[in-house]
Amino acid sequence: MAHPKGFLLYERKEAGNRPIQERIYDFGEVEQTLNAEDRKLQAARCMDCGVPYCNWGCPVGSVIPEWQDLLYRGEWKRASDLLHSTNDFPEFTGRICPAPCEKSCTLNLHDAPVTIRENEAAIVERAFADGFIKPRPPKYRTGKKVAVIGSGPAGLSAATILNRAGHTVTLFERDDAIGGLLRYGIPDFKLSKKVIDRRLKILEAEGLIFKTNTEVGKDITAKELMEQFDAIVLSVGAMQPRDLPVEGRELNGVYYAMQFLTQQNKVISGQTIDPAQRILAKDKNVLVIGGGDTGSDCVGTSNRHGAKSVTQIEILPKPPEKKNPETPWPFWPTILKTSSSHEEGCERGWNLTTKRFIGENGQLKGAEVVEVRWDKDANGRHTMVEVEGSKRIIPCELALLSMGFTQPVHEGLLDDLGMKYDNRGNVVTNDKLQTDVAKVFAAGDTVLGASLVVRAIYSGRQAAFNADEYLRTI
Ligand SMILES: Cc1cc2nc3c(=O)[nH]c(=O)nc-3n(C[C@H](O)[C@H](O)[C@H](O)COP(=O)(O)OP(=O)(O)OC[C@H]3O[C@@H](n4cnc5c(N)ncnc54)[C@H](O)[C@@H]3O)c2cc1C
Ligand code: SF4
Repeated sequence: MAHPKGFLLYERKEAGNRPIQERIYDFGEVEQTLNAEDRKLQAARCMDCGVPYCNWGCPVGSVIPEWQDLLYRGEWKRASDLLHSTNDFPEFTGRICPAPCEKSCTLNLHDAPVTIRENEAAIVERAFADGFIKPRPPKYRTGKKVAVIGSGPAGLSAATILNRAGHTVTLFERDDAIGGLLRYGIPDFKLSKKVIDRRLKILEAEGLIFKTNTEVGKDITAKELMEQFDAIVLSVGAMQPRDLPVEGRELNGVYYAMQFLTQQNKVISGQTIDPAQRILAKDKNVLVIGGGDTGSDCVGTSNRHGAKSVTQIEILPKPPEKKNPETPWPFWPTILKTSSSHEEGCERGWNLTTKRFIGENGQLKGAEVVEVRWDKDANGRHTMVEVEGSKRIIPCELALLSMGFTQPVHEGLLDDLGMKYDNRGNVVTNDKLQTDVAKVFAAGDTVLGASLVVRAIYSGRQAAFNADEYLRTI
């Protein structure tokens, strides 16, 4: 146990974010870091509960109390090793995980959980700085060849483990750079791409083969893939965005969130975008449709572009601000989430559905919305009812559709491999993440539907352990 009375002696202290007036002029990471001494005191707050609910809440099953203790004692290397024993990339989760562990922490009963996520980031940063994270190439090669398709967190985790197990692993990526949504979805102000590049250097030195600009199913056919590799892990994400097929959808100024966010990530990486294709929020009234994290990232990016105004609307009711009796501790609470992007300036609306987009000469000028109510039917199911006389127009010259993703893209690779899909369109696997085709495994959003980085990492790890077991039997 870190410090028997730490939770009584020290208050929760977060590193906090850079001042709004500074950060909205750049795309640098918003969150700051605490000094090592303060960080150790934060670790001292861990009570090492008999039943560590944090460990239960963490999707990778991180052994949190144990590494809080090591952090408190200043044993950075051992803390880092323990962290990496269940999570290949704590530098990603330490920055962008919504930290269900903290929601489950016993100290959250008093709204002051241990700063688990920030402690995680601090350990892995110190481990990189002190040179503890070194390439760990396998001692021998098995002669088996594995293809991992898609280089998001699931594919990266699976490829890392299978390569370290001695198989010759090729990680294929359709885009021009490795990382999946970490690279071309999540904005730099949440996750600097230098953090991904730093890890990729280690993985490359371990002998992992990266093949970018390669769309499997097109540049390499499914048949060739099956012939050339002994096992395959599909980690192609859930990239099919949910559309809003209403009048005016075709107007200039209505885009999917990912078109906007990916472009911005590419600009920051130094790429040039054709000015005719560039989506800019500068001096525009921006309407973000969809109240989730992707929408919040659009808000932050629009403010950094210099938008005139930013409005984010959501079809569901506003969640409770603090406690929600329907989701008590230690469960994930369904409560109002206010991100750093919201704090930077944004009008938010709930119970609003978009009826049509209005334009002039092909250019978006506004969106007609109507208020809705959620009534319960006889079976207790919620049904949406439009409130009469509540139609109004929100003026906007840019509308960003951020209503989530429906499923992985079936056409091409998945269909060609003969994959089966569940009723949500995700790839069906058994409990070993193995599909009906014996040598094909699947992981991450491809199986889960759009989810979280930490879940993708866990899923990639499980697929890799099972694929390794399979490879030992053939
Ligand atoms: C804007 C945005 C913000 C988010 N923010 C957060 C956050 O803050 N915290 C969090 O935990 N989660 C966040 N998420 C969710 C998280 O990014 C995803 O759950 C996670 O990246 C899924 O990982 P994955 O490896 O399954 O797939 P992905 O990251 O989607 O990667 C799939 C990769 O497969 C490639 N691919 C697809 N088909 C082929 C093919 N045929 N050949 C070769 N390559 C192919 C794609 O190009 C892509 O690079 C966010 C998502 C979005 C969209
Ligand atoms: S991965 Fe996420 S849930 Fe797990 S310990 Fe880190 S911040 Fe908490």
